[in-house]
Amino acid sequence: MRRHGGGVAGRDRIDKGEGMIVKDLHGRTIDYMRISITDRCNLRCKYCMPQGIQQVSMNELLTYEEIETVCREAVKLGIRKFKITGGEPLVRKECTSLIRKIKEISGVEQVTLTTNGILLKEHLDAFLLAGLDAVNVSLDTLEEKRFEEITGFTGLRSVLSAIDAALECGLRVKVNTVLQPGINDGEWNRFVELAKSRELDVRFIEMMPIGAGRSCSVVSNKELLSKIQEAYPGVEKDERIHGNGPAVYYRIPGILGSIGFISAIHGVFCDHCNRIRMTATGELKPCLCFQDSISIRKALREGNREDVRTLIAEAIHRKPKMHCFEQLQQITENKKMVQIGG
Ligand code: SAM
Ligand code: SF4
Repeated sequence: MRRHGGGVAGRDRIDKGEGMIVKDLHGRTIDYMRISITDRCNLRCKYCMPQGIQQVSMNELLTYEEIETVCREAVKLGIRKFKITGGEPLVRKECTSLIRKIKEISGVEQVTLTTNGILLKEHLDAFLLAGLDAVNVSLDTLEEKRFEEITGFTGLRSVLSAIDAALECGLRVKVNTVLQPGINDGEWNRFVELAKSRELDVRFIEMMPIGAGRSCSVVSNKELLSKIQEAYPGVEKDERIHGNGPAVYYRIPGILGSIGFISAIHGVFCDHCNRIRMTATGELKPCLCFQDSISIRKALREGNREDVRTLIAEAIHRKPKMHCFEQLQQITENKKMVQIGG
């Protein structure tokens, strides 16, 4: 199956939006929600899902019907874009049906997915039928042996072939890469080359001091950009809108795709923060950096939709002005990233 019209112009149209706009206390428009649907994963990336994490029981997870209710109420508050995440969202059965249901809600503009790509190819047709707008594939290395070292499993070839299959279907694809010094930082130019003949965005994400990431070293995006500028003459800022996030994009002559930087540490992006998060158990999180959360599950299970909406509004209201990733002692979040969804 193939979808047409997934180019940058299409993105512009989506991102302009219409209708209700909700601002938080700091004047930011909050129109994007990241929803984790599982804390389980088929990989074990060390910085995200270290060994020994206790998994939540199935009855603690929100059902798809409950998630759909959250989306319906969130839309009434101006949220129009949803990202489905995990753990690994594709390990939860019928994930495509949830995407279809969210897409059918009036007022929803965009439903996207972030995945490690292992199971993506076999579900692509179902995702297209469901109306998925774009996919982010997390991939930290282009070497099979290193893939196994980072993720604990083999599977690089499946991920790469899923990326190409998704592009062939006309789906917008972003590849998210976290570089670590002495592990995969030497591969930055191979990731740039990945975008050479593929119309995708490669985005370098700075390691955030959340969960096991706290004890990892960071590759500075600023330094990385300098290296790229040195190696590729003519690098220029790409001002086109690429999605919902804080990435800053660049174009390189001779490279079809764009290169993006999500500089969580070396470039605070909080002024433009547009999101709230919900964990798989229904904890609404105003900010990635802080433990502060609001449980929505009880209200959902009591069928109290007005309360659900009030709680979402409260989470928006409680968004802090900025994160404190540069002051480690002030970070209060102690969940692992796999339990939040990135
Ligand atoms: N399993 C899916 C995937 O890998 O895309 C979705 C969940 S995963 C938690 C989402 C993203 O979070 C991945 O791109 C992963 O690399 C990123 N991530 C996990 N821990 C991180 C950390 N400490 N700092 C920055 N990114 C992190
Ligand atoms: Fe799983 Fe994604 Fe975390 Fe890797 S980054 S362990 S694939 S949830």
